[in-house]
Amino acid sequence: MKVIIVGGVAGGASCAARLRRLDEKAEIIMVERGPYVSYANCGLPYHIGDVIEKESSLLVADANTFRSQFAVDARTGCEAIKLSPDKKTVELRNVASGEVTTESYDKLVLSPGAPSIRPPLPGIDLPGIFEVRTVPDTRAIREWIEKGSLFLAGMHKYSGFQTLRPKTRAVVIGGGFIGLETAENLVHRGFNVILVEMGDQILAPIDPEMAHIVEGYVERHGIRLALNDGVAGFKQAANGAVDVLTKSGKSYPADIVILALGVRPDTTLAKMAGLKIGERGGIRVDEHMRTSNPDIFAVGDAVEVKDFVTGEWSLIALAGPANRQGRIAADVIVGRDSRFRGSQGTSIIGLFGAAAAWTGASEKTLKRIGVKDYEKIYLYPNSHAGYYPGARPIAMKVIFRKSDGRLLGAQALGEDNVDKRISALAMALQMGATVYDLEEAELCYAPQFGSAKDPVNFAGMVAADVLRGDMPISHWDSAEKGFLLDVREPVELAVESAPSAVNIPLGQLRARLGELPRDREILVICRSGQRAYSATRILLQKGFKARNLAGGMLSRTHASTFWES
Ligand SMILES: Cc1cc2nc3c(=O)[nH]c(=O)nc-3n(C[C@H](O)[C@H](O)[C@H](O)COP(=O)(O)OP(=O)(O)OC[C@H]3O[C@@H](n4cnc5c(N)ncnc54)[C@H](O)[C@@H]3O)c2cc1C
Repeated sequence: MKVIIVGGVAGGASCAARLRRLDEKAEIIMVERGPYVSYANCGLPYHIGDVIEKESSLLVADANTFRSQFAVDARTGCEAIKLSPDKKTVELRNVASGEVTTESYDKLVLSPGAPSIRPPLPGIDLPGIFEVRTVPDTRAIREWIEKGSLFLAGMHKYSGFQTLRPKTRAVVIGGGFIGLETAENLVHRGFNVILVEMGDQILAPIDPEMAHIVEGYVERHGIRLALNDGVAGFKQAANGAVDVLTKSGKSYPADIVILALGVRPDTTLAKMAGLKIGERGGIRVDEHMRTSNPDIFAVGDAVEVKDFVTGEWSLIALAGPANRQGRIAADVIVGRDSRFRGSQGTSIIGLFGAAAAWTGASEKTLKRIGVKDYEKIYLYPNSHAGYYPGARPIAMKVIFRKSDGRLLGAQALGEDNVDKRISALAMALQMGATVYDLEEAELCYAPQFGSAKDPVNFAGMVAADVLRGDMPISHWDSAEKGFLLDVREPVELAVESAPSAVNIPLGQLRARLGELPRDREILVICRSGQRAYSATRILLQKGFKARNLAGGMLSRTHASTFWES
């Protein structure tokens, strides 16, 4: 059997390696247009920031390794330019010489990825405007930072006080994870960074109130955000700088511009071969990663996947799914019945020592597709036992089905161990767990790592209390309808308070029940919802109609107070 794999990075390389492990006899050719196979594109922003100092660290395995260890004919600088599915051939062009050769295949795997979106805006090709997709991209950015613009020309060669560089300015366009990671790294390189984002929030996959926390955090660490504004074009300015012009009429001068407007599936070859393209613009594949042509498979950022929670076709450009899909395609090619389960979009981004992570559906996605059978909770548990040094709060939003408690999605932000909570929840979600399962999950615990009630258990307990009716909840968007009871201590009210709320501290509540109405619903607030839970339980058992306002004052003010906790 002869298999040709187009694209030699995440999906392609993992398909090639798996295929060889399963079939020692197959002839495997892996072609990669660029100079490197199997490189760590996820590490590129950190090479810009010098966190990963050596470029060679990004090169996980080179073409020689594929040849010697896997007997894969790995060809770099080799572009697939034409597919002829009827003849089962591919035309390959040597990028350096231009020479074109034709190879036949029995099975073909497409893993061409998704190039960065580069709109045809005026001035987009000016020097100093970069994208972050490949090793050569980051090399060019690093060279530009060191000596590329006239503004900085030669300064890297000076010594002593002359190396005190003028403050340099960077504009990053796009508030997704590549834009944000690059923005952080440019801050580390001493740039004043402005991030321009067309939407009204950064990190589009998460809900706005969670994104706003991240926005407050990155702004405090030196990234200026310009939301609700799109880029309109670029103009050459003095000293080699570029003026970034926005749709609202603003102009931001920049010594370097990073385009991070998202990615678009590469369907060039697929279209040429007449393969089915889905409604989201990606290559349509079945659960075996097979395209509409039974001998052609496609994996990675170029394909549409079924959203694991909503069942909708979606584009999810992540390394984990790409690697798994490459492996599945290899399995299927050798006759195994492997299937891709769909993608949950489980992601994490690290920013200035903190992390934002998420899995499954967001509330805005559920609203967009008209799902009403869901409830959400907010909680702010410590990352580990509060008495052990270094505990930091985690802001969590957990979304679950009202009717049966099934977990639908989760988002978490914090400075310590956010990843393991979302990873645990991601696994639970994929296994079809309910919030009742989260209550019972047995997780690692010693005080430096977690709590006897881990945040994952805690989320399950809070959600299950809601579903069992032990803790009816309400949300701030409907708070004006109820009687607001604040059970915090008066000193806390001096910091932040909800107008019109009556204050009865929890410790006094049993003695002061006479001050509360019996004919109105009482919405109970505290800082995070925990004391309000106890108060709600007291009130319910004393015959009052009461609800806990989910997440308390923290979910009302979110961004401003959370990180200082
Ligand atoms: C800066 C950056 C940071 C990222 N960080 C993360 C992260 O932290 N976590 C995460 O999960 N994901 C991250 N990703 C996304 C992740 O890297 C991708 O989802 C993953 O690499 C997709 O794998 P793929 O095989 O589909 O495409 P790619 O890895 O992009 O590989 C496609 C390759 O195909 C080659 N190719 C295309 N067409 C042809 C052709 N006709 N002939 C020959 N070769 C061709 C291209 O040159 C390219 O090298 C990041 C991506 C970038 C760019």
